[in-house]
Amino acid sequence: SKAEEAPKMSFAHDKLLEEVRKSLDAQRKGKQALSLVVIGHVDAGKSTLMGRLLYELGRMDERTRAANERNSTKAGKSSFSWAWSLDGTSEERERGITMDVALESFSTTKRQITVLDAPGHKEFIPNMISGASRADCALLVVDASTGEFESGFERGGQTREHLVLARSLGVAQVIVAINKLDQVQWGKNRYEEICALLRPFLTQSGFHSAKTSFIPIGAMLGVNLVACEGEDAKQLLEWYQGPTLVDLLDKLEPPSRDITAPARIPVSNIFKGQGSGISVSGRVLSGVVQVGERLRILPGDETAVVKSIEVEEENVPWVAAGSNAILALVSVDSVQLTIGSVLCPPANPVPLALTFTARILIFDLQVPIIAGAMVELFHHSRDVPASVSKLIATLDRASGKVVKSNPRVLGKASSAEVQITIRSTGSSTRPIPLEPYAANKAMGRILIRREGETIAAGIVMEVLG
Ligand code: GDP
Repeated sequence: SKAEEAPKMSFAHDKLLEEVRKSLDAQRKGKQALSLVVIGHVDAGKSTLMGRLLYELGRMDERTRAANERNSTKAGKSSFSWAWSLDGTSEERERGITMDVALESFSTTKRQITVLDAPGHKEFIPNMISGASRADCALLVVDASTGEFESGFERGGQTREHLVLARSLGVAQVIVAINKLDQVQWGKNRYEEICALLRPFLTQSGFHSAKTSFIPIGAMLGVNLVACEGEDAKQLLEWYQGPTLVDLLDKLEPPSRDITAPARIPVSNIFKGQGSGISVSGRVLSGVVQVGERLRILPGDETAVVKSIEVEEENVPWVAAGSNAILALVSVDSVQLTIGSVLCPPANPVPLALTFTARILIFDLQVPIIAGAMVELFHHSRDVPASVSKLIATLDRASGKVVKSNPRVLGKASSAEVQITIRSTGSSTRPIPLEPYAANKAMGRILIRREGETIAAGIVMEVLG
């Protein structure tokens, strides 16, 4: 693979930044790109909604739709026909669930939207974390049917957990789609009841009310997605004259793009390309990368040359912070490259951490955290065994001021500063690429899980070594 020819860079760094600025300015007048993670309890209708929306927007042709319907009817799952297009693998089709984070894109009048479809099953939370850490906005789907909203919203349901996780990973905007209103005769009272239950929870989870919107929909019938008209929409129209889902999507704020910071690209997936080539996908968290550029792969001492870059299914000469991209790499020894590796400029690498301090917010806990507690640390698409090696202080949740130094335990709903240490796996302990939140927000967010439950979210303060 080392022999494969690497392309030359087209721009010196300052010229590239100038080029990127010009292009982003032009984009601002046209369609702005952003990425969206679809979250919510299992069976809320996430896949159905995306399938139907893509169809209404002309992204799925009639033949594909009809074939999906035939195939899913044959499999005895006709109600899943709309979801068929997104749920790719045969295992997903058989189980009728979405497991991996699929990528689809569509455009509205003013936005080009990449969809990161998040799975709803509990054991797939790590995938959801990987999806949400690459998203600008979330679309929460809830099931309005009697009893169903409630079971998704109670303790242990994914409605709460997904919202908390998305916010902890930096997603600040959310559209709440209240789905399956056909199941409750399009009742205005039921819609308002659900809004009233969700509103305080959203605020409490850190979503600003100005960045939160609610919308009544019927995903299966296609009501109020692109339009609210026709026989199926009649009952909804009796009390609803607001925006459609697409109207709301069209108003989402695009990401802020920190193009002057050093490039940081955590790898979320790796594919084998043609021949000896290898491709990776991931979100460019900061900086700009161009074709021909050499990137360091951390951890490890390898580098790779970017052979080509794909954004929104198109080949592009460079990619800037805020975009999800696929990079084809050459001159690389792929042994070092894993999901979770971070690509960065060789002259400006990400620090590697075995031990670091973090400020964390503790969620609902059964067993309090004590020094030495064994946990799983999640950072972008990577998860590693770790321990909470020191409890430094408990903090006031509002002001962040120290309440008590060297506490013995951390209970639920508290805030604390702790030291976290990566545990060894087998014979070796490998440090992970991390950055303090103050240096790079998107590189400085972590989640802590234990026995399949998310117990805390936090930000990295200092890398100790
Ligand atoms: P996901 O797990 O959130 O992706 O949910 P799916 O999209 O797989 O949908 C779960 C079930 O709800 C399927 O049987 C769908 O046909 C059904 N469903 C989805 N949207 C609607 C809707 O608007 N109305 C009704 N009645 N059923 C729906």
